[in-house]
Amino acid sequence: MQFLEANARRVVIKIGTNSLTGADGTLQTGRIESLCGQVKALRDQGFDVLVVSSGAVGMGVGRLGLASRPGDLASLQACAAVGQSRLMEAWQHALESRGITAAQILLTREDVRGRRRHLAARSTLEKLLAWGVVPIVNENDTVSADEIKFGDNDVLSALLASLVKADLLVILSTIPGLMRDFGQGELIPVVEEINEDIRAMAGGALDERSTGGMVTKVEAAKLATQSGCGVFIGSAAEDRILEHIQSGTATGTFFMPQEISLAARKRWIAFFERPLGELHLDAGAAEAVLKRHSSLLAKGLADCRGEFPEGSVATLHAPGGRVIARGIVAYDAATVRRIKGLDSAEIQSIFPGRNRCEVVHRDSLVLI
Ligand code: GLU
Repeated sequence: MQFLEANARRVVIKIGTNSLTGADGTLQTGRIESLCGQVKALRDQGFDVLVVSSGAVGMGVGRLGLASRPGDLASLQACAAVGQSRLMEAWQHALESRGITAAQILLTREDVRGRRRHLAARSTLEKLLAWGVVPIVNENDTVSADEIKFGDNDVLSALLASLVKADLLVILSTIPGLMRDFGQGELIPVVEEINEDIRAMAGGALDERSTGGMVTKVEAAKLATQSGCGVFIGSAAEDRILEHIQSGTATGTFFMPQEISLAARKRWIAFFERPLGELHLDAGAAEAVLKRHSSLLAKGLADCRGEFPEGSVATLHAPGGRVIARGIVAYDAATVRRIKGLDSAEIQSIFPGRNRCEVVHRDSLVLI
């Protein structure tokens, strides 16, 4: 699967506390070393790379020898102050031993939201990137007025990606991606649009540690994709994950950027998403799709097989069963079965105010 467009230039990589530090607050230097090796490879190919690193509080907790992560804001901020310089030192050491200069950037969300500070942050970041420096960004926890929460950096990384107009935001953590069935089912490889179904999947997590953090990740993905930045959520434990993202073989969930070209969108439909259903067309509809590149209308649908939510990819079959196309289905499977064979007036009488007799819109359909 292609996560990076051919003309992509800029990548933001966010890594979570539990992937950088052990339960006792010790730093997993091997992980930083491995990531920095991959960052170097990206830099050598001409990419601008920014890193958002959590772990300041965790490392502070470890250094201070506290039994657990404190609950009150002042203690968390004090831990962050102890941990941040140590965290930064580790990144700096790993990057500079590879000939790359690192820079520390501490931001609060207000910094990126307010216009003046937003512009100041942006011009500093642009200058650093122009000099070939890799910014290591974290929330400025010591002055943050809100509770420091796990997951804050997910949103920060999205704001940063949008600030510097990144092409891809990679969120690495202990969570391997968005999964069906409240985090228990299979991994969803591609999300075309973040809708209520996707939000519900992220929110319904049963296991706090492995999927509880999905809510902020989906929120971050929403923000970044709206700015035209793709988002890849994957496991920090996958060896050489950045390389795999580049080669298109990484395991995780990719959130498609909005405002992407039609050609890129069609590539995704054609090659990447696993089809969940089958739409069997009558002869007239098959011909219209094949010869005139028409949308698939409910009227031309003879059968719908499989169970799938709205927005899933399905294969389109000509009479006899041959696969002729793939497309994103505008309805869930039960609704498709309900409207199959109906014309637009009949559909409108079932769904007043909705004029969607297209089961698969032509822009979401690609011939195979
Ligand atoms: N800024 C916090 C830290 O460095 C982490 C916030 C988060 O986990 O998202 O410890």
